[in-house]
Amino acid sequence: MPILIEHCDVLNANAPRAMAVDQSILIEGNRIVAIGKAPLNAQHTTLNLQSPALEIIDGRGLLAIPGLISAHTHSPENYMRGATERMPLEPWLVWLYGTCGEYTPRDHYLCAAMSAIEMLLGGCTGSLDHLWHAGPWNRAVLDATMEAYRDSGIRATVAPMYDDHDYVLDAGDALGVDLRGSAYGLAHGGYRPDREAYRAGVLRDTLDLFDAWMEDWHGQADGRLQTFLGPAAGQLVSDNCLHMSLDLARKHGAGMHMHCVETRVQDYSIRRAFGKTIIQRMADLGVLGPDVTLPHSVWIRSAADLDRLAETGAIPVHNPAANLKLGSGLMAMREMLDRGVTVALGVDGACSNDNQDMFDTIRLAALIHNLKHPEASTWISAREAVEAATLGGAAALLMRDQLGRLEAGQLADITLLDVNSPVLSPMNDAWGALAYCETGRSVKHVIVNGQIVVRDGRLTTLDVDAIAQEFRARVERLPFRHPLDAKTQRDIDDCWRFWRLVMERVAQGE
Ligand SMILES: [Zn+2]
Repeated sequence: MPILIEHCDVLNANAPRAMAVDQSILIEGNRIVAIGKAPLNAQHTTLNLQSPALEIIDGRGLLAIPGLISAHTHSPENYMRGATERMPLEPWLVWLYGTCGEYTPRDHYLCAAMSAIEMLLGGCTGSLDHLWHAGPWNRAVLDATMEAYRDSGIRATVAPMYDDHDYVLDAGDALGVDLRGSAYGLAHGGYRPDREAYRAGVLRDTLDLFDAWMEDWHGQADGRLQTFLGPAAGQLVSDNCLHMSLDLARKHGAGMHMHCVETRVQDYSIRRAFGKTIIQRMADLGVLGPDVTLPHSVWIRSAADLDRLAETGAIPVHNPAANLKLGSGLMAMREMLDRGVTVALGVDGACSNDNQDMFDTIRLAALIHNLKHPEASTWISAREAVEAATLGGAAALLMRDQLGRLEAGQLADITLLDVNSPVLSPMNDAWGALAYCETGRSVKHVIVNGQIVVRDGRLTTLDVDAIAQEFRARVERLPFRHPLDAKTQRDIDDCWRFWRLVMERVAQGE
């Protein structure tokens, strides 16, 4: 049914206080077909605006903004929110892989559903899920995740993780720390125990599995669902794996999503193995482009590498909460924006954030860079932070021309905020209110792909209470809820030792 939102205010960069007042938005199918000063009339549409077959939303007191997009998360970590602290990424990964157990398809369904529920209720309409699975990939697991996103109503892109060579293990060998028998070495990245077999053919088989899965799911649910390739990280893939991944992504008109120098250990391990940075390596291989998204990108620092991002159109995804929690570092967001690089934002997984709240992520992105730059005029503006979550997110989903702004012809992903809520009163400036004030508490209605998925603060698609109850009950059996076994603890200790050795070396300029 077409939807008419009447007499709302609309986020608009050209309007006073960034708010065009008293507007109406007409949605037909999955697109905005008209938007303008209320009331809309026959000039705007041939649709009968008096028809009973038109759903009217009273927009008075509401601000319409483009639905927010999280361009990086890991839905399986939803089980682990708030479970860790005071660990940098490498020991944290050992804890994660050593204690997560192997999920059933139902676990993946519930984790993705809970991620979608939190996002939608918080005004986030789109998610890019870099999906991991602690075991060999199979269709049941992949399909369960897609089904959760289909059922929830969110716009979702799923990029399953895999790898074929761990250059961090090689760095460990060189430093005299054998991580190969650890939870890290056995499970890392591709979450599979037999690396040699993998190199001998499992990578090809895995990509064949993804090929068939993409054939079935890419563009489903009226274009709301997408499938990307998700090579785990720059330090976990061979050159061959990068080429095969991007080729397969492009075959489906999909993107490639890959962790990129989140930590100094990763940057060190890649430079040690290849004698060049990950960005130089990818540029030399010709595997950077606007269809490549690079979550974290914290240790992209040289002018030459930043220029390479700008020249190729690759999209770094900033995850400020996870980078703070794991102490990874601050992405060079100002230097990227100044070069015209498109930056997207992500919440990251709930084991390193630990929420799935895009307003929280916007707020952090708008604030944390102030610490790095003494010159206040270079700080990230409220508008830049919000637009990274809208226009940046749209670009990350390869929907740059279709999402991220409220205009006729755009896909109808709209969040309507109650401007009379305590957090938004008074609305002095829309950019400032969205970046610094909003917590998600003002979210009233959410529309995704022309469907109302949150109405009056309640999800219309899933039985939230039933899903949450099952989700909480199932987590009890997972290993991380029980005391650490001696081997995992030893593996974590070994990884700390390795981490300190690398940090000593990078401090000396290696
Ligand atoms: Zn991640």
